[in-house]
Amino acid sequence: MEKNLQPPNSLLDTMYQEQLTFSHSLRLTTANERVAKLERLHAAISAHEDELMQAMWEDFKKPSVEVKLTELAPLYMEIKYFKKNLSNWMRPKRVSNHFPFLLGKSVIHYEPKGVVLIIAPWNYPFYLALAPLIAAVAAGNAVTIKPSEFTPHTTKIIGKVIASTFAPEEVRVVEGGIEASQALLEQPFHHIFFTGSTPVGREIMKAAAKHLAGVTLELGGKSPAIIDESADLQTAAAKLMWGKFLNAGQTCIAPDYVLINKDMIEVFVAALGKAMETFKSKDETSSDMSAIVSERHYNRMRHLLQDATEKGAKILLGGHFDDENRRLSPTVISPVDSSMLVMQEEIFGPILPLVGVNHTQDAISYINAHDKPLALYVFSKNDFKINQILQQTSSGGSCINDVVVHITNPELPFGGINQSGFGNYHGLAGFKTFSHEKSVFHQFTRFNVNKMLYPPYGPQKQKLIKWLMRLIK
Ligand code: NAD
Repeated sequence: MEKNLQPPNSLLDTMYQEQLTFSHSLRLTTANERVAKLERLHAAISAHEDELMQAMWEDFKKPSVEVKLTELAPLYMEIKYFKKNLSNWMRPKRVSNHFPFLLGKSVIHYEPKGVVLIIAPWNYPFYLALAPLIAAVAAGNAVTIKPSEFTPHTTKIIGKVIASTFAPEEVRVVEGGIEASQALLEQPFHHIFFTGSTPVGREIMKAAAKHLAGVTLELGGKSPAIIDESADLQTAAAKLMWGKFLNAGQTCIAPDYVLINKDMIEVFVAALGKAMETFKSKDETSSDMSAIVSERHYNRMRHLLQDATEKGAKILLGGHFDDENRRLSPTVISPVDSSMLVMQEEIFGPILPLVGVNHTQDAISYINAHDKPLALYVFSKNDFKINQILQQTSSGGSCINDVVVHITNPELPFGGINQSGFGNYHGLAGFKTFSHEKSVFHQFTRFNVNKMLYPPYGPQKQKLIKWLMRLIK
């Protein structure tokens, strides 16, 4: 782990100043020029694919198929979508005027925020550093990226991709851990885009307050899945198995736990077991599943499981640890209750607790008694119930009859709410996150319309104002 690599503060000052100076010319760049940058970025990512797959294997044994599916494909899709739409998004948008100033022209301009900082986590270390970068560059900003210290091999590839695409005054990578991040946060960035845990998100907001920097917080938390009586259990089981155990459960929108009718648990566990069998190669802790990223997180998994079983949970499926490879087989536990750590913190690993409820309203009450989740999953064929759940709960996003895949549509803004974060990105939402919507009113100049509103407010003016107020009300 390369924790103490950060440059000294004086160098960070210089780096920031260089980017600030350069940002003034960046704001004048055209859509074509920005699209050309995205094309260069696409080519650089493509040229480093093999190295990236090797690096991610070294970092946490991420299978190359998952690197392609979850780190590379979504970046290529995002770049394609930005290329298609950017010139339209950048164009100033005329909006209608409102009484009494009907003669001017009202326009929204999209100006770059300026110099932005992207702080990325380790769980999708390549994608989560570069996806916000696409939006930030397309919006015309200078960018500093601080990747995670827990995936050093991937960080090296991020550095190579960036250095081969951009001059450092436009985009640069600063390596290092918490200290590097904190030192960067001393700089007066115009916007901070943070992806990571909720406790660190609070620290980021505090640091941003010093300079009144804009903040986007893409945080985590416990994302529940509700399965109701009408759901197709076998399909739900396969989808949940896939979503939970992708990246070994180290996914911000992985289904964290399942709320299901108590009477359905036994049948559902059998369905999960069947799904698990179909996913498995011969070895139960197979290399088709990533490793747990670090010894600390691996031990955390042990501790969560031990704490739950000591308090009465049963391991219904899995539960096999492979210390040499830092892997835990997909593990399903029940019954669980709020005294267990596994129901208190984001699991972020391959453990799936099943929470027994009596009916849908119970599940809704359970969700509303906890932090607002980043994602909420519902498996049901009953539209009334689906709407009931959507209307009565709050979450960053939701996916009905599937898991995780809502993140792939660039037309859907992606982000959390309150404890799971705020602000969003992907597609237009990302362009807007890294742009300031500047409202401009061009006044009509042939004569001074508002002269009639200037003081002194004699009887004639008062009469006019009275008439205006009547019209406005
Ligand atoms: P983390 O919060 O520990 O670290 C994220 C980044 O912040 C790293 O680059 C780290 O160096 C830096 N950092 C850590 N402590 C800091 C501090 N005190 N001050 C300043 N910077 C600091 O998160 P992680 O463990 O890397 O990632 C896992 C978390 O991220 C999970 O909670 C997960 O749900 C969340 N996550 C959210 C999304 C999303 O899109 N909403 C995506 C992926 C992960």
